Amino acid sequence: MRVWIDQDLCTGDGLCVDHCPDAFVQLEDGIAYVAERGVALNDPGSSGSLAIVEQRNRLAVVQAAEVCPGECIFIEIDDEELVGEFAAGKANDPISVQ
Ligand code: SF4
Repeated sequence: MRVWIDQDLCTGDGLCVDHCPDAFVQLEDGIAYVAERGVALNDPGSSGSLAIVEQRNRLAVVQAAEVCPGECIFIEIDDEELVGEFAAGKANDPISVQ
């Protein structure tokens, strides 16, 4: 799973950071950015702003996307992840049906 934010739509309310401070950070400009291994990916619009989500943070990232008032958190799920989870019998996992 990967995640990115469209900073043009971000309201800066910080809900994503509240939900998952491992995956989201707010910088000095008040806008939220994704983070990977504690490092903010602050190059809006580039492929370098697509962060890998650690397994333990998946649910929190999905929840952050659901509550984001700017509707600007975008999640990408690799096909291999879905196949692997179906094979493991996790088809009812809410993350798997995204
Ligand atoms: S929840 Fe959405 S709108 Fe709010 S700070 Fe995070 S990305 Fe921006």
